[in-house]
Amino acid sequence: MRCEVCGRRINGKPLKVIIEGAKLTVCIECSKLGKPYYEEPKQSMTSPRPGTKPRPLMIQTKKPQPPKVDTSLELVENFDLKIRQAREKLGLSHEELGKRINEKVSLLRKIETGKMTPDNRLATMLEHALKIKLIVPAKEEKIPQAKLTRPSGRDMTLGDLIQMDKKGSEKEDTAGRRQS
Ligand SMILES: [Zn+2]
Repeated sequence: MRCEVCGRRINGKPLKVIIEGAKLTVCIECSKLGKPYYEEPKQSMTSPRPGTKPRPLMIQTKKPQPPKVDTSLELVENFDLKIRQAREKLGLSHEELGKRINEKVSLLRKIETGKMTPDNRLATMLEHALKIKLIVPAKEEKIPQAKLTRPSGRDMTLGDLIQMDKKGSEKEDTAGRRQS
């Protein structure tokens, strides 16, 4: 066994070092030029790591997201009428329309009578086939309605709520007395 740096015979145990990125087997003298490296410790270094991976983060990121799509877009209220009128305007029968969009006639009949609501995919196909608008951005009314009740409640003080409570109970009390 010869030293890969100086070429001399290695007396005793050959040493493995990294010199400028190269793994070399060298003599004791030359080992001082590089960093010693060991193959065994590397394996023991990698094995404990998989266990220390942050698993909780993976669970936290798993959140149901599909509903977002449904809230941003919605069907027009009179989609059933719109579809029927547009179909009749084009002179199409249920069968013909069904063929165009690859859907069952029974399904179309249900949609036109408002018994069924087409999903986004089907509504989009009907839009294209009949050249009408069925999917519209969700009305802004809907969101504020839900939100409005909260801000007004937030503005009210606890005192207001208690007073309202008193008024309500008083009315009930008097009403109850009158009845009895
Ligand atoms: Zn050497």
